[in-house]
Amino acid sequence: MAWWGKAEPKIMKVHLFPDPILNTKMVKIPPLDDHFQHWVTEMFELMYKSRGIGLAAPQVGLHYRFFLMDVAEETEEERKTEQKNEAQGEGGENLEEEEDFEEEDLEPLLPKNPKVILDPSVIFAHKETAVLEEGCLSIPKIKIEIERPSKIDVCYQNLQGERVEESLTGLAAACFQHELDHLDGILIWDRISPLHRKVLKKKFLNQQKNYGT
Ligand SMILES: [Zn+2]
Repeated sequence: MAWWGKAEPKIMKVHLFPDPILNTKMVKIPPLDDHFQHWVTEMFELMYKSRGIGLAAPQVGLHYRFFLMDVAEETEEERKTEQKNEAQGEGGENLEEEEDFEEEDLEPLLPKNPKVILDPSVIFAHKETAVLEEGCLSIPKIKIEIERPSKIDVCYQNLQGERVEESLTGLAAACFQHELDHLDGILIWDRISPLHRKVLKKKFLNQQKNYGT
């Protein structure tokens, strides 16, 4: 189990596939002490630097059921545009933003709506679904279209130890489900056909070998 002792601080980094922690089910969260606060602060820094909108504990080597997300609240206007785009078959936004640039060349993202999500669960998934193109900081440069419920009612505990219930739609709903999957050891390519998964895993591992990262 990863542990950043005060005597020997380690730099937090994103764990990449095929690190076995990414296929492991996470356990109950630890006490919300100073140490935990310290992880959260470091994780937010790493997430914004990596230009992600979500980061789950196993992605930084921690075995606990929590994740961070930062998806700006949609305005009514944006929601309408999104629905229109979906109707035209153009829907889809990047979950963890990445283009043809190297991440280190890009400016960090700025905090918009940061949330720490502890012990999360989906209480109810509405039957309408949406397909969004998702990326993952643990499998860089791989983008996969994933179909998920487009509206979910969720509950979780916040950093103050309070129980929160809310309804999420659009990108926030997709991000929550993506990060919750991480806590159960599920990656985006576990949600597609075995054949497609095999092709993408091979592509990813070759890419890692070639760039030596
Ligand atoms: Zn991910």
